[in-house]
Amino acid sequence: MRQPVVIGNWKLNGSPASTEAWVSAVLTGTGALDAVEIGMCPPCVLIPSAVNGSAGSALRIGGQDCAEQVSGAYTGEVSADLLRAVGCHYVILGHSERRSLFGETDAVIARKMVRALAAGLVPVLCVGETLAEREAGHMEAVVRTQVRAVVDVVGIQAFERVIVAYEPIWAIGTGLTATPAQAQAMHAFIRGLLAEYNPHVARIVRLQYGGSVKPENAAELFAQPDIDGGLIGGASLKAEEFLSICRAAAETR
Ligand code: PEP
Repeated sequence: MRQPVVIGNWKLNGSPASTEAWVSAVLTGTGALDAVEIGMCPPCVLIPSAVNGSAGSALRIGGQDCAEQVSGAYTGEVSADLLRAVGCHYVILGHSERRSLFGETDAVIARKMVRALAAGLVPVLCVGETLAEREAGHMEAVVRTQVRAVVDVVGIQAFERVIVAYEPIWAIGTGLTATPAQAQAMHAFIRGLLAEYNPHVARIVRLQYGGSVKPENAAELFAQPDIDGGLIGGASLKAEEFLSICRAAAETR
C-alpha cells in the first residue's frame, strides 16, 4: 500500500511570519492525519524557519530546486547537500516553471536528480505536457521522454525513493484541472513506463498529481487508483485549504 503524499509548493511566496503561522496551523490541524505524508517547500531562505517550526513533527520540508553543481563559483545557486544540511527532506526538480522560465532541459534535471539523491534528499520529479502537446495527442510521448531522461541517468532503483509529480502545464496556476480520468490515464501510463524497467519499483513509486488542486476537486483526483496524493501550488498557501486537501488524501486510505 502506497502512503499518499501531499506537498505544498509555495513558489516565490510567503514571509518569515507567514511561514511560522502556516507551520503552526498545519501542525495543529494535522494531528490525526498520520495516514498521509505531508510536506511543504517554501522559498529557500524560509526553509530554516519551516524546519525549526516543524521540529519533532511529521511535517517534512523541502527545497524548490537545487544546483547541478556541488560547490564553487556558482553565484546564486544552492546545493542539494546544503538543503539536506539545513533539514530538508525533499527537493522539487524539473518543475515546468524551471523548465520554461529558466531553460532547464531534461539533461540538466537528470544531473540535479543525481545530486539530490546523493545528498539523501527525496526528489519530487515534475513532468507534464503543454496544452498544444496534449491537443496534438503527444502528451504520452512528452512525458515518456521526460521520465526516461532521468531513469536512464539515475537508474530505476533510485525510483524507490523518488516521487513523480504529473503536472500538466495547462493546469498549473490556471484554475483548469485535468479531469480525474485524464489524470488517472497519465498516472497509469507513467506507472506502466516504469514497470518496463522494473515492475516492483513501479508498484511502490508514488505518483502525485499537480495542477490547480483545490479542496473541491482533491477527493475525486486522489480517489484514482494510480494517484498517490498531490503537489499543491496556490492552494497550499492557505493552511486551511491545504489541510482540507490533506484530509481528502487521508480519506482515500
Ligand atoms: C505547482 O506549481 O506545482 C502547482 C501545481 O501549482 P497550482 O496548484 O497553483 O496549479
